[in-house]
Amino acid sequence: MRRLISAIIILCSSVFAVNAHVNKEIIAPSICPEPVSSKVSPTEYVPLSKIDLYCPDDNAPMWAKRHLTEWYGKLAPEIIPALGGKKWGKDGEYQMEINQRGITIRAGSLQGVRYALYSLRQLAIPARGTYRTAGWIVPVSSIQDAPSLAFRGIHICWFHETEPWEVERLVRLAAYYKLNYAVIEPWGSFKSDVAPWYGWPDGTMTKAEIARIKAIADDLGITLIPQINVFGHATMARGADGKHAGLDFFPEFQPLFEPYGGWNWCLSNPKTRELLQDLIAELHEAFGNPPYFHIGGDEAEPPSCPECIKHPYSELFLNHIKALSETIVSRGAKPMMWHDMLLQRGDPRWKGFYANGTEDTAAGFLKFPRDIVICDWYYGGAHDEYPTLDYFRSLGFPVLTCPWDNREGIKAQAHRAHEAKMDGVLGTLWHHYFGGSLTMIYPTLANAAWKANPSYKDVRAYTFYNHLRQVGWDMGVSDPRHTGTYYDEIPPEPFLNN
Ligand SMILES: [Zn+2]
Repeated sequence: MRRLISAIIILCSSVFAVNAHVNKEIIAPSICPEPVSSKVSPTEYVPLSKIDLYCPDDNAPMWAKRHLTEWYGKLAPEIIPALGGKKWGKDGEYQMEINQRGITIRAGSLQGVRYALYSLRQLAIPARGTYRTAGWIVPVSSIQDAPSLAFRGIHICWFHETEPWEVERLVRLAAYYKLNYAVIEPWGSFKSDVAPWYGWPDGTMTKAEIARIKAIADDLGITLIPQINVFGHATMARGADGKHAGLDFFPEFQPLFEPYGGWNWCLSNPKTRELLQDLIAELHEAFGNPPYFHIGGDEAEPPSCPECIKHPYSELFLNHIKALSETIVSRGAKPMMWHDMLLQRGDPRWKGFYANGTEDTAAGFLKFPRDIVICDWYYGGAHDEYPTLDYFRSLGFPVLTCPWDNREGIKAQAHRAHEAKMDGVLGTLWHHYFGGSLTMIYPTLANAAWKANPSYKDVRAYTFYNHLRQVGWDMGVSDPRHTGTYYDEIPPEPFLNN
């Protein structure tokens, strides 16, 4: 009997021993954004040695080879192209199988190949047990993936003190997270030849920098969209700081702006429209004539000059936006505009949402051409209903929902975009592109925009930091202040408080 008991104990302990090495609490490999369908083994890894690539785009194998070499150097896996496949699926769709026989990627376009390799890069880790990296391994996986929303964007502010590397990093990170558009808004940073006075002397957004970052964006599969504020926010400075990037040093250009602050452009002055048309053309050209141009249009004030007051403001507003839209459409692009001036303040239908317009602007808006993409911003938490989104859609406009720095708001607004089959999501950063805000916004937005019902379970700060570091390696970052989410260990007070 004693022997039997001992045998049972030995048997039990050996069964235990087999199971004991698999810990219950582990961090499993993950992909941001979460794929539509995926099985990724948390424990079984195979070498990253060769990739069979099925894609009808002749450029795909070269793109893959170039970037795998950038990421893995001499340890890059071999690419075995299998051309001749036909185009299939949505742009960006891909399938990836990783098992003992190797890695197989199938995609209908170069964009699908990019996205497959971004997923692969997030899964790959250095082989274990050596002092220096001597090989790479990837978990056994089966992934079927495709974007759900057609427009997955991020809005990035380029302030006059913004250094170009910051914009480059935000653009690279957006592409890595499978966003396909980035709106770039200059805040007095653009060095214009058309109006050299309209911007700060130390602005860093030169045409050379735009071209450099655009080339990177094109290569990584994200389209840059320029912006100029053609109504309010004409100061190109934050409302709270009292600056005017044009008039502080060049008072002679005051007739172009409304008196008493210069926050609005003067809509009755024909020179205003000419200048804005020239600036739009200049900036659109500098960005390589992309398919969209953002004209801002938010948070404007009522008119204050005698000439603007004399005219019905609904007509001035309508004719101004129509003329600038025509400029953009004639260049082969679609205008985009913030929504809040198009809704009358105090209208009970918009209670709890942002409506900054007057009776005049709301009335003028009803006659807008329907090709203007309405960017409906809401920065609070989740709602069950989004009446402003419904309103713009009912009038026949393309609509993007635009969240900011609120996790539940990003999730709910994007969910609504999927549910209502809207055009997409345009996330915003404003001045919150540091610290916890950056760490939350990017992965949450990426997941929300990519998939109808993501779990968000793998959105972790340390995983995000890893991705940020990979982007830093690609950029060849060597300054310690250009890594992580703050310049310095102890961030300056405004960032601590905001
Ligand atoms: Zn005026």
